[in-house]
Formats: sequence, structure tokens, C-alpha cells
Amino acid sequence: MAKINRKKQRRNLLILLCAFLLILGVFVKVVFMIVDTLFVSEQKVGEKQESKKENKLSKEDYTKYVVDELGNVPVMMYHGIHNIPSNETGYVGGNVDVDGYQRTAEAFRQDLQFYYDNGYRMIRLNDYINGNIDVEAGKSPICLTFDDGLENNILVTGTDKEGNINIDPNCAVGILESFKKKYPDFNVTATFFVNGGLFRQPEYNEQIIKWLVENGYDVGNHTYSHVDFTTTDGQIAQQEVGSVYAMLDEIIPGQYVNIVALPFGSPYSYDHEMIPYIQSGLYKGKQYTTQSMLQVAWEADYSPYSNQFNPAFIKRIRAYDNNGQDFDIEMNFTTLETTKYISDGDPNTIVIPANKQDMLGNVYDKNVITY
Ligand SMILES: [Zn+2]
Repeated sequence: MAKINRKKQRRNLLILLCAFLLILGVFVKVVFMIVDTLFVSEQKVGEKQESKKENKLSKEDYTKYVVDELGNVPVMMYHGIHNIPSNETGYVGGNVDVDGYQRTAEAFRQDLQFYYDNGYRMIRLNDYINGNIDVEAGKSPICLTFDDGLENNILVTGTDKEGNINIDPNCAVGILESFKKKYPDFNVTATFFVNGGLFRQPEYNEQIIKWLVENGYDVGNHTYSHVDFTTTDGQIAQQEVGSVYAMLDEIIPGQYVNIVALPFGSPYSYDHEMIPYIQSGLYKGKQYTTQSMLQVAWEADYSPYSNQFNPAFIKRIRAYDNNGQDFDIEMNFTTLETTKYISDGDPNTIVIPANKQDMLGNVYDKNVITY
């Protein structure tokens, strides 16, 4: 009996031992699984942080790209784009008139290719004025503007079955759209400044303006009758400015830019007595505000982070040819080679060479990094 009991006891002990080992095994396995999960997720977080870091440039990269977010920004002033070869105009380069205000389609295509090849990427004029510069690392911002609302800025040739407008491929927007397709990283955009006749195509004007804002372009104010502000009084100035805002308010409420491209560049000086009437006033009982005015100037303007930048009075470059003289495109872009804004690729930081620190103005709550 005693022998049998001892055998039974030993067997029970063995069963207990087996059960214990099994439980221990499961426990160890679970512990390993938990540790494994923790370890992997920690590693993933680590990887993410590292890839984030990779998007930011190091100090060596700043030097390599010559990053300078206090450099100058070209705002190009165009008017008409004419579908004729440059050698048929009788004027210098791609000029269609003696002053080079009108440009051939051939020259405009060459301009765009030149900007792209030389590291310029487009930004909206409104973004430049408000210090929102989002350009990839090592590249430079450029703004395009068109005055006078000419037919050849966006020429509609008809509509398709759905009623959408067809745009002539050789007008300004037609050419811009082909570059948009070819170079998605060019960030193609432009701001068009209209008078009372809008785009001079009564049948399509409203559709054109809606199409522009739906397709990444902007529309601004060039006064109702292309007025010379040195000849107006405050009353007329308000009518000229307010009536165009009122027209845009009807077609694209809240979607146009509160920027006036000054006709002839008038009244030429920021201290002129007409300036306050352009900046704010009343038209048919409605208040308007102008954030910024564009001059007809000759050179690139300052970085929006420079203490010399006046966001209310912007300088523009006349987009014309003059054999590299008198502030034509060639002359300006030669100067820009050593003075241009070069981005660090991060819109939330302002990266500048250490010796430019005392040139900082409004930094729009962004982090300033010097190197
Ligand atoms: Zn004009």
C-alpha cells in the first residue's frame, strides 16, 4: 500500500511539475511577446523621428545650398502675350512694342524655362506679401503678375459639351498650363490685375475669373479705367478702386486678392496724398481695404523678413529685353545670382547667414536660424 501511495505521489508531483513548466513556458512566451511589441514600436517611432530629421537641413547643407532667406524676391510684371515669333516684331528680343510691355509667346516660353532652369519656383504674390514662402530647399521664389486684363492673358476659344471654357494654348494661361503639366514642381501660378472690362470677353468674363481662382491663380485690382492717380481726387480714387472690388465681389466673393497694381505706377510715391484712398475707402456704401500696392519698378524686392520690406508697396521687374541693360530680365537675374532668396525648404524657419542678423524685420512667429 505504502509503495502504491508513493508511486501515486510521485506521479502527482510529475503532473504538477509538468503543469508548472507549461504555465512558465506560456508566461515566458507572453513576456517575450510584450517586450517584442514594445521594442518594435519604439524602433518605429525612432525611424519616424529620423526620417523627419532627414527633411531638415544640417548646417553643412545650409552652406552647400547657400541658404539665404533674407535674399531678394523677383516679382515679374507682364502685360500682353502675343502669339508671334520674336524675330518678326522689329524690336529687341521678345519685345512686341518699343517699351517692351508686350511680349511674344515665344519669349514668354523662354522666360519660364529660364526661371525653372535657374532654380526659381513660383509662389503666390499674396503668400510673398504675407511671409508664407514654401519653396523646396536650395530653390528661390518668384512671383508672376499680369496687368490690364488683356484678352491674350486668357483667351477663350469656345466651350466644350459640359460648358467648360477652352483656353487658347498660346495665350499666357495656355502657356502657363503647359508648364504646369511639364514641371509639377514649378508650382505654376500668377496674379492677374483687371480693369472694368475684366478680360475683355463679355461672354466669358465671369467664367474666366471663376476658372482662374479654381485653378490656382489669383485676380486683383488695376482700377476701373486704368486711372492715373496723380490726376484724381479722393472721390474719384475711391470709385476707381472700389468699383473693381465690387465687380470681383459679385463673381468670386472673398476669393480675390486685396492688391492694387498701380496703373502707370501712379502716384509713384508712398507718401502721395492719394495713397490712403487706395488703401481704404467707400464705394456705394461698402467699405474696401487694400493690403498692398504694386509699383512699376525696375528691380527685385526684399525678402518679406527683411527690415527694409514694405508689404504695402511692392517693387516689380519689367519682364522685357534690352540687351542686358536698363534693368531688363537678363540684367536683373544676373544681379540676383548673388542677391536672391534661397530657401531651406522649411516654411516654418527663417535661415540666414550670421552676418545678416541685423537685417531682420518681421519674422512672423517663425524660428530664426543663423549659420
Ligand atoms: Zn496697366
